[in-house]
This record gives sequence, C-alpha cells and structure tokens, in this order.
Amino acid sequence: MTQIGLHHFGENVNKFEEELSKYVGAKHGVALSSGTAAIHMALKAVGVTNGDLVFCSSLTFAATANPIIYQNATPVFIDSESETWNMDPKALEKAFEKYPNPKAVIVVHLYGTPAKINEIMEICKKHNVPLIEDAAESLGSTYYDKQTGTFGKYGIYSFNGNKIITTSGGGMLVSDDEERIQKVRFWVTQAREKARHYEHKEIGYNYRMSNICAGIGRGQLKVLNERIHKKTDIYNRYKEGLKEITEISIQPIPKNTVPNHWLSSIVLDTRSKVKPIEIIEALEKENIESRPVWKPMHLEPVFKDYDFIQVEEESIAKKLFENGVCLPSDTKMTNEEQDVVINKIKSLF
Ligand SMILES: *Cc1c(COP(=O)(O)O)cnc(C)c1O
Repeated sequence: MTQIGLHHFGENVNKFEEELSKYVGAKHGVALSSGTAAIHMALKAVGVTNGDLVFCSSLTFAATANPIIYQNATPVFIDSESETWNMDPKALEKAFEKYPNPKAVIVVHLYGTPAKINEIMEICKKHNVPLIEDAAESLGSTYYDKQTGTFGKYGIYSFNGNKIITTSGGGMLVSDDEERIQKVRFWVTQAREKARHYEHKEIGYNYRMSNICAGIGRGQLKVLNERIHKKTDIYNRYKEGLKEITEISIQPIPKNTVPNHWLSSIVLDTRSKVKPIEIIEALEKENIESRPVWKPMHLEPVFKDYDFIQVEEESIAKKLFENGVCLPSDTKMTNEEQDVVINKIKSLF
C-alpha cells in the first residue's frame, strides 16, 4: 500500500529542484518561496551574521541588498563598469583594500547580462571570500558556455511574475555543497529537528516553494529556451532598429557571453538632447510601458548610510540610472508592436 500521511506534499518540488539544477549544471538546488528568500538563505548558509560586511552590486533591485539587513549585516555597495553594466572588478578590488574581511560578495547579472565573472571569482578566491550570484534575471545566460548562477559558492534564481520563467512567485538556491543545501532545506521548513514530536533548536523560516508552484515551474522550464530565443530576437530588433540614432547604445553583449536578454535596455549619451524621461513619457502616451534603469542602492534613501566604492571619477551605476531606459521586452509582443516602440523613439531624435 502507498503511504497514507497526515498531509499530502507531492513530488513536484523535488522534481523541479532536480530539473532546474540539471538545466543550469548545479549539483543541488532548493526551491523557495522567492528569489529574495534564496539570497537570504545564501547569506545565512555562508554564515553572515550581526556586524558582518557584505559587498554587493549597487546597480540592482533592492531585493538583492535587503537580505543583508535581514541578517543584521552591513552592505558595502560596489560600482558598475560600462562593458556589462555589472560589478566593476576594479572597484571590488578597491573595496577589499578598504575592508579586507567581508563575509560574502553578492554579484548581480543585470537584465540577464553576465558580469565579468572570471575576474570577480579570481578576486574572491584570492581573498578567500564566498561569492553569491544573484542570477534572478539571468536564468539561462551563459559565460564561456557555463550558466550564470553556477560560478559562485551559491547562485539564486527568481520565478517571480516578471522574470523569464515564473511560478507566480518563487526562487531557487543552487550550490554544489550538499551539506549546506540540506541545511537550508531544514531552515526553510521551520527548522524542525528529526523527532516524532515538534522539536526546535534553531529559528526557522517558512520559505519552501509550494508543490503547486513547483508544478508550474516544471512546465515553465520546458519553454525557457524558446523564451530566450524570443528575447534575443527582441534585443536584435531594437539594436537594428535604433542603430542610426547615435545618441543611443543598447546594453552591450560582453565577449564570450550569451545573455538571456530578459530586459532590453538602452543608455543615452550624456550629451543627448533627448532625455530618458522624454522617451518614457512619449511611449506612455501610446500606452507603452518603459522604465528608468534600476536606481543604484547607494543612492536609495534607505541605504544612504552605507559605503559605496567606485574607481571612476563619476559613478557608472549613477550614469546608467540617469541616462538609461528599459524597453518593453515582453515575449508576447509582436514585431509590429515593437516597430511602434522603435519608430516612436526614433521620431524624438
Ligand atoms: C526579481 C529580483 C530579485 C528578487 O526575486 P523575487 O523572487 O522577486 O524575490 C532579486 N534580485 C534581482 C536582481 C531581481 O531582479
């Protein structure tokens, strides 16, 4: 007879963990309620606690940095470089000179474009500090044929509604360290000790992905490659369609990387007479959504008291924020609809 239990859990969660880990080439994965929860657990798994320092990309979504505060640790924000828009290895090195003993480094692969991960890994190895990759936006992106999220000690993915694949809400933490992943599985299911009764020696979390969400995730994983294909098409059409406008450059594709092109984003030359807000407002009039690039964390009021490390005279992250626009990149957008966006932008110049 099959087992009759108190509750039914189902097998989708385990299967989704196996299938996603296999896709990215990680040994182990734990499916969680969000990407934010995954970052939180990665920090806890490397032992980040009260008073520790964590180096973190500044140009990102607040969800990258918030878990540092959940652990009562202190973020130090790192500037971007202009080739990938991601963490500048030179600024990271400079941060190590100022603060030799951070507990972890969190690097983001912005809008699906891989950071200079080899250089960043090398610096982390030299200083013996674990790297956490926030690959929430970059599932499926590769760097020298290896998936983002599998270079560092931990990688995290998000399946929030706006990401390249979604479970309505969810995330995954991947790592090759089986013991740590098991430990995270324990924390995220309320830290229940092995005993017949409910026994607790540690504080736990209710962070596990539900079986229903995992079922959706398994289906979504099957369309991931197709979505990347479509997103790449969208990126190429913007690149081609806007190439005559010399004031506009699209987020570059760094050498030896294949981005998933989750969000096609452009940056205007600082001397451009047309400003990002004019593009955003002109598109809005046509009921087309576009947005500024993420506001860097070091400029956010909530993080204003934390240090920021830059090597360029003018912060690159700030420049990208002030001059960047994220363009509509929905995979359901038709070519005709995209042409409306392109032509509207062109008409402003
Ligand atoms: C979406 C996102 C997250 C958070 O993921 P959730 O699943 O929404 O919690 C973290 N970092 C980045 C860069 C993101 O884009």
